[in-house]
Amino acid sequence: MNLIMFGPPGAGKGTQAKMIQDKYQIKQLSTGDMLRGEVASGTDLGNRLKSIMDAGELVSDEVIIELIANCISEAECEKGFILDGFPRTLHQAEELGNMLGHMARKMDHVIVLEVDEDALVERIRGRAGEAGETRSDDNEETLINRLKVYNDQTAPILPYYEERGLLRKIDGMLPINEVTAKIEAILDA
Ligand code: ADP
Repeated sequence: MNLIMFGPPGAGKGTQAKMIQDKYQIKQLSTGDMLRGEVASGTDLGNRLKSIMDAGELVSDEVIIELIANCISEAECEKGFILDGFPRTLHQAEELGNMLGHMARKMDHVIVLEVDEDALVERIRGRAGEAGETRSDDNEETLINRLKVYNDQTAPILPYYEERGLLRKIDGMLPINEVTAKIEAILDA
């Protein structure tokens, strides 16, 4: 089973992806976590990535597509995967479609967490305040740009998956366990 967790920054994609990974034994692939790993390693590439991420802008499609192509062909993705943070541009979505086609695989569901933008700002403020969880892009200024980038570059992917009959919309404002239950109902149907 191959899934995409879709939604604006702070919608809870990562939280839900982790729950699904544990229950269904399919691999969570978080591009944000992978990029933060590269930044932490202090390489030249990592330093370049950090300035892009801290500005709330998107890393180039080429870098991200190569990262994902390498991951989904690995054995740990054999039973399936949950994409968390990818695709983020229409070009990424199209390239993903090509990749899966070549592998004779397909996407099963695109789970969209629908949330209120004002509430997101509050959530990220809370996340910024949590000890040990500080992310250098979880400040208000960057968040406002991340939301703008989401609306301009990422939300336009939705019609692509709508046409393919893959969109499953969920109210992301519900408590975490209720969101999980709704996702499970879709996956178990
Ligand atoms: P968010 O909480 O905003 O969804 P992520 O952890 O998914 O955060 O991503 C953090 C940052 O990493 C993004 O703002 C962007 O700079 C970069 N990034 C992550 N995934 C992608 C992608 N698919 N394409 C381009 N940039 C990405």
